[in-house]
Amino acid sequence: MLLGVIADDLTGATDVALMLAREGMRVVQTVGVPQHGVALPKADAVVVSMKSRTNPADEAVAWSLQACDALRHAGARQILFKYCSTFDSTDQGNIGPVTEALMRHLGVAWTVACPAFPENGRSVYQGHLFVGDSLLSDSPMKDHPLTPMRDSSLVRVLARQTSVPVGLVPYQTVSKGAVATRAAFEALAQTGRAIGVADAISNQDLRVLGEAFDGQLLLTGGSGIALGLPDNFRRAGLLPATRQIHAFHAPEGNTAVLAGSCSAATRGQVAHAIAHCVETFALDPLSIASGQQKAEDVLAWARPRLGAKPVLVYSTAEPDAVRAVQDQFGRDHSGQMIEALLGAVAVGLHEAGVSRLLVAGGETSGAVVTALGVSMLEIGPEIDPGVPWTLAADGKSIALALKSGNFGTVDFFTKALAMLETA
Ligand code: ADP
Repeated sequence: MLLGVIADDLTGATDVALMLAREGMRVVQTVGVPQHGVALPKADAVVVSMKSRTNPADEAVAWSLQACDALRHAGARQILFKYCSTFDSTDQGNIGPVTEALMRHLGVAWTVACPAFPENGRSVYQGHLFVGDSLLSDSPMKDHPLTPMRDSSLVRVLARQTSVPVGLVPYQTVSKGAVATRAAFEALAQTGRAIGVADAISNQDLRVLGEAFDGQLLLTGGSGIALGLPDNFRRAGLLPATRQIHAFHAPEGNTAVLAGSCSAATRGQVAHAIAHCVETFALDPLSIASGQQKAEDVLAWARPRLGAKPVLVYSTAEPDAVRAVQDQFGRDHSGQMIEALLGAVAVGLHEAGVSRLLVAGGETSGAVVTALGVSMLEIGPEIDPGVPWTLAADGKSIALALKSGNFGTVDFFTKALAMLETA
């Protein structure tokens, strides 16, 4: 293994796995923290996906260190801690605490924090994160149900989460190339461990950062930060010069979409799907809480409809509605109760013959894949930037498209399903 990736959620893991596969690495993604003594699969890169983004920081740290040890034990020469391109976190963490713990664990003096993913409109300039043409704090991320982002200065955000000094490696330096960039990180760490928030507004900047980190043990960032890493291994003769494309065959069967994301892109995609004649079932958090709406009710509705058209089950709602639910039941409890229901629905749908399943939402995807008992994913073709089709690689016959809430074009659901028809 060349590269070991620790990803703080499932869709983020799939996103970075796709990035590495596109750059010519053989990639396998595992679901959950590797158990002690269990061998990791053989590949150029192994992406360990956790569901640690919104857990208590000490839990996220413990899991990340366990994943790091498993990856290093399996031979990883470099570790990447992958988080969301919108820096999803709270003042308690978990990006800061996990980065700091990995730095100490691996004994590194400096590392990078860069969530930029220009292809998906996420860029970092003077340490401020932009989503499209808006500052992060003006973007829909300000209303995220679990990690509302109301400060676009990543230096400030990260400094609140860690005791390690946080500095900036600005665009003016990154634009000078890998040597100048590496020197800037080294300078940051002259008085001790330090994290450098790096600017990146294009793929070229990300490739510069990748090159600057050639041979460095630890990086942190969005999937974009992985862009330049395979070339380092290729230059060292550790990866073949030509990139290989693997065949992808989705199992025949019924199709379904589960949406537990309330992000702006998913809201648009659900509205588009409703307008385009998929069969839809709207979940009602109040009825779920009172026990009036159960997974079995959803399944009783879905079973007779399977086959003719895709079925869509969604809890997706506007920010005001989400806030009202959270005020009544608490943020975490609201999320968990909906995730648990969608997980149970996924299991029932699979038993009823659904073998092509789209899931919208990072936390939601984690809950669904865990409920299905899928422990390993093979990465397939790209649907939209950051979102591939995947295949369960552990004997279960199911193709999964796991979409981070804010990713994908408005016709994502129909487009993804059509792709399998023509494959
Ligand atoms: P995203 O990728 O958009 O962040 P996630 O699935 O990670 O989506 O997070 C959305 C969270 O919001 C989940 O915990 C989900 O259960 C919760 N949620 C979904 N629908 C509602 C709703 N109508 N009211 C309150 N919380 C909701």
